[in-house]
Amino acid sequence: MKKHNYSAGPCILPQEVFEKSAEAILNFNNSGLSILEISHRSKDFVAVMDEARALALDLLGLTGKGYQALFLAGGASLEFLMVPYNLMKENGKAAYLDSGTWASAAIKEAKFFGETVVVASSKEQNYNHVPKGYEVPADANYFHCTSNNTIFGTQMKEFPNLDMPIVCDMSSDIFSRVLDFSKFDIIYAGAQKNMGPAGTTLVVIKEEILGKNGKTIPSMLDYAKHIKAESMYNTPPVFPVYASLLTLQWLKKLGGIPAIEKINNAKATLLYTEIDRNPLFKGAAAVEDRSNMNATFLLNDEAHTPIFDALWKEAGISGLPGHRSVGGYRASMYNALPIESVQVLVDVMKDLEKKVSKTRL
Ligand SMILES: *Cc1c(COP(=O)(O)O)cnc(C)c1O
Repeated sequence: MKKHNYSAGPCILPQEVFEKSAEAILNFNNSGLSILEISHRSKDFVAVMDEARALALDLLGLTGKGYQALFLAGGASLEFLMVPYNLMKENGKAAYLDSGTWASAAIKEAKFFGETVVVASSKEQNYNHVPKGYEVPADANYFHCTSNNTIFGTQMKEFPNLDMPIVCDMSSDIFSRVLDFSKFDIIYAGAQKNMGPAGTTLVVIKEEILGKNGKTIPSMLDYAKHIKAESMYNTPPVFPVYASLLTLQWLKKLGGIPAIEKINNAKATLLYTEIDRNPLFKGAAAVEDRSNMNATFLLNDEAHTPIFDALWKEAGISGLPGHRSVGGYRASMYNALPIESVQVLVDVMKDLEKKVSKTRL
């Protein structure tokens, strides 16, 4: 039986993506070859790469606006260093918002390249909220933020207006909600949270910001080289790009980001309403910053842990335990998680309440 997969990443993908991927592994496009063995320079795969790059821009509303989409390898973590390498000037500085573990990992890498100003941090409160009311130094070469803090279950609802490039790590909420994506100059996202299997990272770049820091950049780290090579500077992650394309096609068919946003709002409302109503549970993140992708919550009484864990496992739920730095539970409700799976979790939470109140009598 298919599990209700709440894993934070790699994560659930649409069932039709699993099915079409499986088909392509056996016989890609009726070519008599597996997607795993075809040349990345073959006509069929070049078409996959071209469509994936174009469709990513299309879904984000960035077609014809001076942006390029790349499918690179190395994960979102490699972008932590590619961004400063490509954008930080000699004796320049960068500004970062520290809203979680991944943001702080990006800051650590930027420090190798130059002065890195942390404009605000919620670290002292174990990142239970997104810092607000900060000022960004006007002479920074760029501002970096993380739209969704996967581990802590917080999400940025607003982004600053700045006279400098804005770079955003959208690994865990890309394609999940309507935003004015043209506000950003670089958007990057590891595929395995909301788009595809692990192995590729989508990087969307406003081309005009490149080539301005006067640095010679090693080829594999140079965004301009990857753009010039149409995302095939070296052998790209062929299968992850193909599976990502299938997810993007699924999303397009569904009605794009506006359509999935409605579904995601409904799923999040369903779960957070129960977390707030059920006297046995409490949310872990500040209410105004709650993430629609990763809902973090705790049992008020840890003594209920064994019975709750048994109940959700019995219901076919997988991947619910929280990250060790928060504890409790984390329900990751990425695009492909059906609302029926959220209802199953809500029913289990209600069931626990009934069982606990019975034992009290
Ligand atoms: C998972 C995650 C990363 C790390 O992604 P990798 O592809 O494993 O390097 C970075 N940022 C955010 C917000 C994440 O959720």
